Amino acid sequence: MALIVQKFGGSSVANPQRIKEVAQRVARVRKAGHQVVVVVSALGDTTDELLQLAAEVSGNPSDREMDMLLATGEQVSSALLAMAIHGLKLKAISFTGAQVGIVTDRSHTEAKIRKVSAQKIKQALSRGNTVIVAGFQGITEDGEITTLGRGGSDLTAVALAKALDARICEIYTDVEGVYTADPRVVPNARKLPAISYDEMLEMASLGAQVMQARSMEMAKKHEVRLHIRSSFSRRTGTIISKEVKAMEDVVVSGVTVQKDEAKVTICDVPDRPGIAATIFTRISDSRVNVDMIVQNVSRTGYTDVSFTVARPDLKRVLRAARRVASEVKAGRVTHDDGVAKVSVVGLGMRSHSGIAAKMFQAMAKESINIEMISTSEIKISCVIRKDQAVRAVKAIHDAFGLDKLGVKPITEKAAKRK
Ligand code: ADP
Ligand code: ASP
Ligand code: MG
Repeated sequence: MALIVQKFGGSSVANPQRIKEVAQRVARVRKAGHQVVVVVSALGDTTDELLQLAAEVSGNPSDREMDMLLATGEQVSSALLAMAIHGLKLKAISFTGAQVGIVTDRSHTEAKIRKVSAQKIKQALSRGNTVIVAGFQGITEDGEITTLGRGGSDLTAVALAKALDARICEIYTDVEGVYTADPRVVPNARKLPAISYDEMLEMASLGAQVMQARSMEMAKKHEVRLHIRSSFSRRTGTIISKEVKAMEDVVVSGVTVQKDEAKVTICDVPDRPGIAATIFTRISDSRVNVDMIVQNVSRTGYTDVSFTVARPDLKRVLRAARRVASEVKAGRVTHDDGVAKVSVVGLGMRSHSGIAAKMFQAMAKESINIEMISTSEIKISCVIRKDQAVRAVKAIHDAFGLDKLGVKPITEKAAKRK
């Protein structure tokens, strides 16, 4: 008997029929003798609809009330799934994040998990229940409801798999696994049999929304074994695990695109020691994460400093940038939200050269101009015009031959050899 955590995303529980199908799937695992803890997202697009409702009643809703609102979505789906499982004559009980002791800090809408007390879940399991937990939510030490950021049900699942020492954490979604690119953008993308934590973390941070980036940080830290698969089929999906030798043979595992980016430029910044420190201290004080930074060579004692941020942060960062521009006696501040970031990710980059050149050539062939570049050990990212992003991803994907099945497949057996 094993303990398995299964997480079902919004599209997997979009309507009563889908919920009944999830109940059937859970029942099969129960009948095979395993214990199951299920984490559910809200039905379909519920979270987006709740956000829309909030926007219609307030221009500036408070983060606390937003959490009160958003947490309702997952409470609905968890109770409905418990009822559907009861319909199959099996024991099941649903709980909120608060009830199962998912304790977070107080940063409403983006709360960090501080601890998970799995006591209540263990008790319910020992009484023969399938336990269903509302994903995406937690509670502060002083009893305030919080949510874990968009896609946060993935994080709930990983955190519970860790707390319960589950054999595997299965993430059921609407595609068959992790692909070499978003299969909705690149129709000839391939499903990867396996991928390392590091690559999935990079891909998630760079726009592959199939896993929440923060959930991948936790999975990596605690080596929680993940299986990303479809709730619409029974096929094996993608195993995410610690790096294995075979993974390094694949130079590039995936291409991602992030369209929610904006570029800010502070013009005519005096080129003196300490100025960059002042600028980015003020920006970080405004609680905005800066992504890429580019500073031009100065010929006149002045230089332009550009950086990218997530688009929702643009208003806030512009206020901070204008203030610090005047503090350091720089020129005007401009912004551009017509940009996107395309990236290639792969462990093999550590030992292969020419990856950047190949990526740039693919874009050159399409006459796509690169505005900013950044690299790390296992990724290369370029900022380009947003309306060229899809073309760029397709071209890069083809240039690396990711559409070809000739790439050495990594078997699940290989992924298990640690
Ligand atoms: P869920 O509601 O199940 O959490 P999400 O919408 O959050 O599902 O994530 C699944 C979606 O992620 C897919 O429908 C797909 O369009 C998108 N996606 C983006 N990049 C990738 C990728 N590299 N591999 C698979 N899916 C991806
Ligand atoms: N319902 C939340 C969202 O849409 C959490 C999740 O689905 O993972 O972001
Ligand atoms: Mg998701």
